Amino acid sequence: MTGAVIVGASLGGLRVAEGLRAAGYEDRIRLVGAETHRPYDRPPLSKDILTGGKEPSDIIFRSDEELTAKGIELVVETSALGLDVANRRVQTTAGDLEFEDLVVATGARARQLPGSEDLDGVHTIRTLDDAESIRESLRRGSRVVVVGAGFIGAEVAGAARALGLEVTVVEAMDHPLERAVGREAGAACASLHIENGTTLICGVGVDRLTGDDAVQSVVLADGRQLDADLVVVGIGVQPNVEWLDGSGVDISNGVLCDERLGAAPGIYAVGDIARWANPRYGETMRIEHWTTTVEQAAVVAHNVANPGSPRECDAIPYFWSDQYGHRIQFAGRATEAELVEIGCRPDVAAYLALYRRGDTFVGALAIDGTVALMQLRGRLMSGADDFEEVREFAESLGGSNA
Ligand SMILES: Cc1cc2nc3c(=O)[nH]c(=O)nc-3n(C[C@H](O)[C@H](O)[C@H](O)COP(=O)(O)OP(=O)(O)OC[C@H]3O[C@@H](n4cnc5c(N)ncnc54)[C@H](O)[C@@H]3O)c2cc1C
Repeated sequence: MTGAVIVGASLGGLRVAEGLRAAGYEDRIRLVGAETHRPYDRPPLSKDILTGGKEPSDIIFRSDEELTAKGIELVVETSALGLDVANRRVQTTAGDLEFEDLVVATGARARQLPGSEDLDGVHTIRTLDDAESIRESLRRGSRVVVVGAGFIGAEVAGAARALGLEVTVVEAMDHPLERAVGREAGAACASLHIENGTTLICGVGVDRLTGDDAVQSVVLADGRQLDADLVVVGIGVQPNVEWLDGSGVDISNGVLCDERLGAAPGIYAVGDIARWANPRYGETMRIEHWTTTVEQAAVVAHNVANPGSPRECDAIPYFWSDQYGHRIQFAGRATEAELVEIGCRPDVAAYLALYRRGDTFVGALAIDGTVALMQLRGRLMSGADDFEEVREFAESLGGSNA
């Protein structure tokens, strides 16, 4: 019995394995991962793990007993090295594994700042081991420079401020999160940094880091020099596709998949690595969000268990981010969209904005407005896209005209 092999033992891989059992799949399931840990949740890595609000044991998804009870064979500390599609085999550091169905869930790794690889005190944050070593440095009371004001950089800055440390965030764009949520909402996110005592420097890149063994400073492109004992780099990720090189699977910017998340017959991808044809938008996209990974895993589990009645994945991108005690949530797409702020009562949201493309409602962003955002996300899911109608609805939730 060859069954299913799932490569990548994290959120996406685990959810596919569990979804397969829930769908009545009875064959063997092997969940193969490179890390030493059992599958764990990554969002707390840049939040509660850094502040000490959570311990590593709190973020492990399942015990060995729970996995065994579901008949999921977890193979840790094992990396996939290659894929032989014709002979249905994955080459791994622990030998070859035969499969009938293969799920690629190898996610992504953090991009490094070129030239910083050998300097002590310079970190990226993707794994539990990364987070634990940043936590150790934060405990020593460092001067912290965060490179990149994306979600993860902003969360690390917030955690370091919560511990009372001196923090500077450097962002090459004019506003934090500009690419994800646009300029205006990026400016609203900037105020969270400033109100919480973080020094925010936008519109300038990093030229180089100085230091012999350990980092001493960050030199900006405009010549400014920031003293630092700890530098956390949050400048995006690279999909872990190298092991698929030469297999025939298209690995340009992730694993290219069709609407059903299929990359080749009986081969699927989920999570941060999947670049799939989203039928809702008529374009391919690779989304690096927790909820999208879970939604994709449900589709892949269904499609492996029920090959005769496959489903498409039409997920609407959604993410949350916790910064300085505030929750930012976004649903939809901000690309080429115009932002319309909804003046809001503070009990509804500290900040609420809708995004329109012409007359079409395409997205919503809230700070501390979970109920409003979830209702607007529901509107997107139901296909209600008349902008004026949605604006009226949003205002009825507690906007300036309520
Ligand atoms: C610090 C941090 C904070 C985050 N916070 C949020 C948040 O607040 N909100 C939100 O929406 N999303 C958040 N995310 C994103 C979310 O965690 C990811 O979308 C999710 O983890 C993707 O899951 P995945 O299974 O696709 O990939 P990953 O979680 O990246 O897992 C891939 C796994 O595959 C393994 N692997 C890689 N190569 C191989 C190989 N060759 N062989 C075997 N195994 C391999 C890796 O070691 C890893 O364990 C955060 C991510 C990080 C890193």
